[in-house]
Formats: sequence, structure tokens, C-alpha cells
Amino acid sequence: MAATVREYVEGVRGGSIDPREEIPRFLESARELQKRLNPFITINESVEFKTEGALAGLPISVKDNICTKGIMTTAGSRILEGYVPPFDATVVSKIKGEGAFILGKTAQDEFGFGTFSTNCAYGIPKNPIDTGRSTGGSSGGAAALAAAADFPHIAIAQSTGGSITAPAAFTGTVGITPTYGRVSRYGLIDYANSMDKIGVIAKNVYDAALGLSVISGYDPMDSTSANLNTTDFTKSASPDKPRIALPKQYFLSTTDRRVAELVIRTAERLESEGMTVEQVDMPFTRYSIPAYYMIAITEASTNLAKFCGLRYGMQGELKGNFDEYFSKVRSEGFGTEAKRRIILGTYARMSGFREAYYIKAMRVRARIIREFKSVFQNFDAIITPSMPILAPRFSDIAEMSPIETYNMDMMTTAPNMCGLPTISMPVGRIDGLPVGMQLIGDHFAEERLIGLSQIIEGLQ
Ligand code: GLN
Repeated sequence: MAATVREYVEGVRGGSIDPREEIPRFLESARELQKRLNPFITINESVEFKTEGALAGLPISVKDNICTKGIMTTAGSRILEGYVPPFDATVVSKIKGEGAFILGKTAQDEFGFGTFSTNCAYGIPKNPIDTGRSTGGSSGGAAALAAAADFPHIAIAQSTGGSITAPAAFTGTVGITPTYGRVSRYGLIDYANSMDKIGVIAKNVYDAALGLSVISGYDPMDSTSANLNTTDFTKSASPDKPRIALPKQYFLSTTDRRVAELVIRTAERLESEGMTVEQVDMPFTRYSIPAYYMIAITEASTNLAKFCGLRYGMQGELKGNFDEYFSKVRSEGFGTEAKRRIILGTYARMSGFREAYYIKAMRVRARIIREFKSVFQNFDAIITPSMPILAPRFSDIAEMSPIETYNMDMMTTAPNMCGLPTISMPVGRIDGLPVGMQLIGDHFAEERLIGLSQIIEGLQ
């Protein structure tokens, strides 16, 4: 069996590997993983692939909030049960165009609302390293599969406020969250339009960079798509003498000391390799969680209005007036966290409150963007822990309040709400559990970031 994505794709293109012989085994392995870890909502048994292209014959999993023609797409929510899109999202057309096939749709927190993939309507994905612990969320199924697959595979994931970084960190995989606008959102079931980004999770930087190369690029179907040429990110180069910033606000006492120390030791190692590493001050970081959640719930509450049991997914018996029908379907179809966010978000954008909450949060975001921009005048990358804790046990998550859970996003909300690209990569283990380090770059500086992460990967 081909060990890596690269060898497999080259083998398929060169004719030394026949996907028809390999794919039944990949599917068998996927079904076994499903029994043990529940990474899928749907496994796709109708396989179509090509023997040419950058992903020739490669199995790709797709997070369940990304539309796939003919394959059920639920965004992890009961309210979309049975919804089969009549079209492919742009990223899905792109991966198919490069020869890949869709292995399945991966488990996630409902609509992306969560940090631990425990707000799931179709079962909770489990961490392959310890099945009593979370995979992280909301792209938990994608990361569990990327970590555990014993076949070549890349996962297409998505982040609004940290949903690629958190699961990559907890499963010891590499997650790339691109700059907002780098990858088309056409066909993504929106969570918060001004922050949603489609990205990738894979076993190593090369595989993740390959996936990003295929899915990125301008798309006239997405009005926020950046008008840039496509790039082969696998050929990314690091700056000659990288300058790295360590913001002190990301290493506070609220972060597990062991995690913070491991990231600092990694930074010291980079310094001994000739890179410049300096501490910086980013005082506006502390406003990122409140501003992020205000923007996120406000946008989410309007996006979820279209799920009323008429056009998509779940339908009830048509009884009573529209409000009665709508309330009944939504009461049954949405989970607790989705309801919480709809209620809070609707309140925050009521006339009279809009200025005080949503608009103010947007202003705070603009201020945080300026703070990042001033750091990037002197540095190529910012390094932080990916998550403030190690992968938590399900029993500990059950004890957390919503606010405690939201606070777990302290590393990821600021770069995500500012549309900046990030990479989460494993930098070691503590008590057998992986620790992720987050690299944050300036807008559209993915190449520099990927080049740098390849160097860091090589040092380990
Ligand atoms: N935990 C964050 C939230 O619940 C981020 C999740 C995401 O990126 N979808 O909003």
C-alpha cells in the first residue's frame, strides 16, 4: 500500500497503482473507523474518480456543511436530515475535477456551533488517541479521520472561529485555515458569512498544502472571493530569515502551563536555528472572544431563518398557520446550542440594539485587525498555542458552562474574525496527548506560513 498521498497520486497517474484495486480496501477501512470513532455522518459508496489530476484517485472527505451533489448534507443538524443538494460546492467541483472521489461527509458540531464536536445530531466523533476524549470541533470528524486513516486521504474542513485549528491540535494533525476569500464559500452552508472559511486537515504540511492548492482560487459565484491566481502551495518557500512574534496575551495563566512551555521551547529552538523570535504586546486580544461571539451569533441567527421545514431537509405535518408550523419544526430540528444562538443573535440585531452590539463588535474587529497589521509590519508570523488545554475528556466537557466553552477559543477567535490565515501543527506530546502550535500570518501570506511550517516540521 502507498504510504503517502504523494506516492499514491504519483502511482495512480503513472499507472503503477490501480485505484479500482485500492478503493474497496479504503472503504472497508472507513467502515471500521466509523464503528470505532464515528468520524462520518455519511460514507459515500458510489465512487467516481479519474486517473489524472493533482488528486488522481484520492479519497477526500468533506465536512458535512459543504454541499455535495447527490450526497446527504446536514451541517450536523437534525433539521437538515435528508437534504440532498442538487449541486456541488465550488470546492467539491474542484477536487472532483482533479481526479479525487468523495469518501464521505464528516461529523461536526451542528452548523459549526462548538469547540469539541459534542453538539452533534448524528453521534459524537471520538479522538483516535484516546476515545474518551474530544477530537475538538467543530470539524471533529475531519480531524479524527485525518489522524486515524491508514490510507492516503485529505479532509476538507471549515472554520468560522477555530474549527480547523482546535481539532487539528487535539488529534495531532495539520490544519490550514486560509485567508478569508482565498477559497470560495459557494455551496457552504453559512454559519457567519463574514468569517467562514473552507480549509484542510491532513497528516502533514505537504498534504494540507496540496489540498489547499486545489480548492483555492477566484470564483465568480462567491462575491467575497479574492481575485487571485491559483498557487501551488506545496512549493511554498519560507522567508530567508523568518521573524517570529510571540504575543504575551496568548501565554497567560489561563493556558495550561505545559502547553505554553512546549510552544515556547519550540520557539527557542527556532531562535537557535537563526530565526528572530521576539515577544510582542497585543492588548486588544482580550476583546476578541466577546466581539467574535457577538458577530457569530448575529450572523448565524439570520442564516438559520431559512430552515423552516419547507425548502430544505426536515418536514413536518402541514398543520396550523405558518408560525405554528415553523415553530414546531424548528423546536424539533435544532439542538440546544443552535437555539441558544438563535435567541441571543436575534436579540442582538433587533432595532435599537444593533448599534450597541453588532455594529460595535464590528468596530472592535476593525481595531483588532489594525493591531495584527502593525505586528506584521515587523514580523512574518505570530506563534501561539493552538488551544489553551489538552484534548479534554467528555466527562469534563459535560461540566463546562457555555461561557467556559466559548473561552476555550481564546487563541483562535482573533485571527479567524480578522480573516487571517493560520496553520495548526503538532509540536510534541504531553501525557501522550498532542500539542498544537498555531502560526498566524498576514492576509494572503499563506506561502510564507506554509514554507515556515515545513521547516518546523522538518526539525522534529
Ligand atoms: N467554537 C467556535 C464557535 O462555536 C468556533 C467554531 C467554528 O469555527 N465553527 O463559534
